Amino acid sequence: MCGTCNGDTAGSAAAPTTTRPESASTSNGAYPARGKPKSSPYQSVQDYISNVNNFKIIESTLREGEQFANAFFDTETKIKIARAIDNFGCDYIELTSPVSSPQSYEDCKTICGLGLKAKILTHVRCNMEDAKKAVECGVSGVDLVIGTSSFLREYSHGKSMELIQKTALEVIEYLQSTGVEIRFSSEDSFRSDLVDILALYKAVDKAGVHRVSYMANSNPGVVGCDIELHCHDDTGCAVANAHSGLEAGATHIDTSVLGIGERNGITPLGAFMARMVVTAPDYVTKKYNLKALKALEELVADAVQINIPFNNPITGFCAFTHKAGIHAKAILANPSTYEIIDPSLFGLTRYVSINSRITGWNAVKSRVEQLGLKMTDEQIKEVTAKIKQMADIRPLAIDDTDSIIRSYHLDLQQ
Ligand SMILES: [Zn+2]
Repeated sequence: MCGTCNGDTAGSAAAPTTTRPESASTSNGAYPARGKPKSSPYQSVQDYISNVNNFKIIESTLREGEQFANAFFDTETKIKIARAIDNFGCDYIELTSPVSSPQSYEDCKTICGLGLKAKILTHVRCNMEDAKKAVECGVSGVDLVIGTSSFLREYSHGKSMELIQKTALEVIEYLQSTGVEIRFSSEDSFRSDLVDILALYKAVDKAGVHRVSYMANSNPGVVGCDIELHCHDDTGCAVANAHSGLEAGATHIDTSVLGIGERNGITPLGAFMARMVVTAPDYVTKKYNLKALKALEELVADAVQINIPFNNPITGFCAFTHKAGIHAKAILANPSTYEIIDPSLFGLTRYVSINSRITGWNAVKSRVEQLGLKMTDEQIKEVTAKIKQMADIRPLAIDDTDSIIRSYHLDLQQ
C-alpha cells in the first residue's frame, strides 16, 4: 500500500494447441468439460462487506507508472496508453500531477479532452495551489494525497496532524465548489498512527469526499464513502492485498499495466485480472475487454523498454504451456485439470510441449493427429521413445520433434 510509498502468445503457429468447445464454459473460472459445478473452491466466501463482485479499477500507469525507473512517456505515447486503458474498460485513468512540469500540465489537459469513457483523475499534493491546477486541466476527479506517518511528517513535509486536517478541509471545500470527484488519501498509512488517520478520515468523510484511500479493514465502520486501495509490491503481495482489501470492503483498486511504478511498482492490472476472473468471472468477463490485455501490456512494455516476464500471469510466454506427460494427458482430456484460467477468455491458446524427455505419448498422439498422420497407439509410444532418446542428448525444438515423427511415419510406409 502506498504504505511504504513509501511475448508471446502461449501458443504458436507450429505448436500443438487444443481448443475448448464453447459449450464447456462455466462461470466459475474453472471450466470442466462436462457439467457445471455447484460451487468453486476458487471463489471467495461472500459476505455483506465484500466487494469482490463489484469493484472499480483506477488505472495509474500514467501516474504511478510514470514513477517507474524506465518510464518516459511523450504526449503521443500517453494518448495511446490512455486510449488502450479506456478500451480495456477501466473505470478511471489517473494522471501525473499537472504541477509536476509544464508538459505534464499540457498532457493532462490533452487527455481530458480525448472524450474517453473512463473518468480522468489526477493525483496531487493536498494543497490549494495543486488542487487549482488540477481543476484547470478539466479532470473529472482530484486525488489528494498527504503523508500521515511520523516518518513522512518529520522527514517529508513537516506538518502536524492538526495542520494536515485543516488544510485538507479547506482544499476539499474548494474542490466541492468545482463539482469534481474528490478522493483523499493518507500516504504511508501502514506506519501512521491508527487513531490519527481514523480521525482524519472521519473528518474528510464528514466534509463529503467521494473516496478515501487505503485502509480497507477498518474504514467501513468509520466512513460512509468509497474506499480505494493502493498496494505496492515490495513483498510480492500487491494482488493478494488488493483481493483481501475488496473482501474487507474496499471498492476501488489502483493498478498499473505490468505493475510499473515507484520501486517495483503496484498491483499489476493483468495479474489482478487473473485473480479476479477466477473470483468474480461474471463481473469481470462482462465488464473488461480481456482480449485486449496482451496488446495493452505489449504497448506499455515497449514504451518502457522491458520484456513481459516469463512468469507473468496470463501473458507470460509459458503461462499456458504444459510440459510433463502426466499434465499433458490430463490437459488434453480436460483443461481444467491443470488450468485455473481459460486462455481463450484472453484470446490466447494453450501449448502442450512435446519436445522433452518428460513428454508423454498422449501429447505426441495429439500432435500426430494435428499433423494429419495415422498411427496406432503402439507406434505412437515407439516414436515417443525416440523423441525422449533425442531429448536426452540435446534440447529439441518443435520442428525437431515433428521431423522425428514424420520420418518415423515415413519408415512405416516402406
Ligand atoms: Zn504509490
